[in-house]
Amino acid sequence: MIPVTTFKGKSVALFGLGGSGLATALALAAGGADVIAWDDSPASVENASAAGIRTGDLRNLDWKTVDALVLSPGVPLTHPKPHWSADLAHAAGAEIVGDVELFVRERRAHAPDCPFIAITGTNGKSTTTALIAHILKASGRDTQLGGNIGTAVLTLDPPKAGRFYVVECSSYQIDLAPTLNPSAGILINLTPDHLDRHGSMQHYADVKERLVAGSGTAIVGVDDTYCEMIADRVERAGTKVVRISKRNVLADGVYADGACLLLAEGGASRQIADLSPIQTLRGSHNAQNAAAAVASCLAVGVSEDEIRAGLASFPGLKHRMQPVGRKGETLFVNDSKATNADAAAPALSSFERIYWIAGGVPKEGGISTLDGFFPKIAKAYLIGEAAPAFAATLGDAVPFEISGTLERAVEDAAADAGKDGSGPVAVLLSPACASFDQYKNFEVRGDAFVKHVAALPGVSMLVEA
Ligand code: ADP
Repeated sequence: MIPVTTFKGKSVALFGLGGSGLATALALAAGGADVIAWDDSPASVENASAAGIRTGDLRNLDWKTVDALVLSPGVPLTHPKPHWSADLAHAAGAEIVGDVELFVRERRAHAPDCPFIAITGTNGKSTTTALIAHILKASGRDTQLGGNIGTAVLTLDPPKAGRFYVVECSSYQIDLAPTLNPSAGILINLTPDHLDRHGSMQHYADVKERLVAGSGTAIVGVDDTYCEMIADRVERAGTKVVRISKRNVLADGVYADGACLLLAEGGASRQIADLSPIQTLRGSHNAQNAAAAVASCLAVGVSEDEIRAGLASFPGLKHRMQPVGRKGETLFVNDSKATNADAAAPALSSFERIYWIAGGVPKEGGISTLDGFFPKIAKAYLIGEAAPAFAATLGDAVPFEISGTLERAVEDAAADAGKDGSGPVAVLLSPACASFDQYKNFEVRGDAFVKHVAALPGVSMLVEA
């Protein structure tokens, strides 16, 4: 845990005890702050009380005595409208911050030079974060990995010289971190997302820009117009910018030519890594993630050899285009995280001949935007509520069966793939749907897929079932 010493003796109100909230309250209390915490969920409040945190309805506080409101990133700061606790804090002139800001202040107070890489973007955050942490760990560095990826940042070990931090930041966390100043900050890409919480694309982009604007080195993916403009603006303001691209040749920066990553300086470029043999980094989206990882590792002093070794041994993240088993020419791939058509597109684009398992709770628009991939799909196996609608979209373009359950889909897809005979094929779970009709969440669905693959005769598993 990182005790939050910068609020010692101060009065702090905290709202939102789910997720990272309780860990944040404990870290504040451990550092000597006078914390009072609250949540709409009585169970969360009870849980916090049991952990020794003072709890109480923040509406009854004397806000004149409150120094800061710590908000959980899940609680609206601005849109669709500010949460009532934010209104109370504003009215009283108390600052509003989140757990990433508390971490940033601790680092500044105790080890301002310890390398800190912060990662944001619309897509690829977790993969890039995990990849960077893997490269650092594989090179023997003391590495702390946390933030939006699932480990609350204040549960990490405290900042000290030589310790590396790799922190994934959602736009909400950035919004609550006004003095965010990573040694290297990454903005991978920007496409419309979470606009309900940010009001407009411009506001969403402005929030994301803050992460790189405050960085020692700003690493920006320039494959979309928003990010391109952000890179220019941040550079004009005097920050060192390293551009990355998954598709365009750059005069300076890190870019991909197919699966080859190149480092460009002053118009001259040379290969820095070949991603083609790395199963866990397939696809141009992963080339973008890997380019960001390479640029950030170089920025904090990792050698090119260390970077290459780390890339090559990256085990991948569970449920994201994760190779889980192999039988003959068939590779079984778990992409359960793809809960909408956009998220399924990278996986469908990464394999040449696909036995595709899709379905669950459909999202608006279904799979019609994926029709460009239909010629690669040898057969589709449809599960869950979406099956009839997906069948209608596939029509005569793709052979399909309504498998109903994932277990049946895996068995049938494996049998058909085994008879394919045309060379390497993928049995791919990339559902383009939420999982809630049949599973608690995408993780449980992905784990079920792995279990069903492991139950097939003759499969060599690449992961534990
Ligand atoms: P995030 O943490 O931003 O949600 P993840 O790394 O968990 O992103 O990846 C989630 C899904 O998003 C992946 O399964 C893949 O389909 C897609 N994805 C990953 N990286 C990128 C990228 N750089 N650009 C576009 N899509 C991506």
